[in-house]
Amino acid sequence: MSDKNIVWSESNISQDEREKTLGQKGCVLWLTGLSGSGKSTIAKALEKMLFAKGKTAYILDGDNVRHGLCSDLGFSDEDRVENIRRVSELAVLFADAGLITITAFISPFAADRQKARTLLPEGRFFEIFVDAPFELCRERDPKGLYKKAESGKITSFTGIDSSYEKPEKAELVLETENISVEEAAGKIVSLLEKGGILKA
Ligand code: ADP
Repeated sequence: MSDKNIVWSESNISQDEREKTLGQKGCVLWLTGLSGSGKSTIAKALEKMLFAKGKTAYILDGDNVRHGLCSDLGFSDEDRVENIRRVSELAVLFADAGLITITAFISPFAADRQKARTLLPEGRFFEIFVDAPFELCRERDPKGLYKKAESGKITSFTGIDSSYEKPEKAELVLETENISVEEAAGKIVSLLEKGGILKA
């Protein structure tokens, strides 16, 4: 619902000024992939790498937002769409604040990821496909979720009884079967350097 009586309130500080102070450009790094593919692990390694370079990044993690902002949502297709919509809007605000915003959500539907992309200016949204074969994710099972899904304790689990639409035009694909966590994070840093994000 939108209301024509609600007007966007402009800040006195421009995005340009904010970014100059921070020495970086605000952006969204949208990590997508199956549960257990490595999104959270890579996000944390990346955040640490950027911090060491004096850059300000922040992770919006799937499990964390489901504790608060999205605690009213489940895992039906409809709730997943709403979950990603809220996170997309939040990520836009974080990027506007000048932060390198890392999102770590399965975000299984291409249309929702595309919608998130359209909320940001060109060059400020990077779709990063954290790609690992289903069997490997199932084997890793870091949170024991595949076991629970297979025994029917949880339903609508991506890859089992809920679908995952692979990105077709991701800015970066990280095959975590073949590269280490550090290498994966390093590739994202290179992408940011190339995109001019690490300087204001
Ligand atoms: P997700 O956030 O995608 O659900 P997690 O990051 O929570 O996945 O779990 C991925 C698991 O895979 C972790 O236990 C991590 O240590 C392991 N792993 C092994 N190799 C890699 C790699 N190259 N990149 C990322 N994670 C890896």
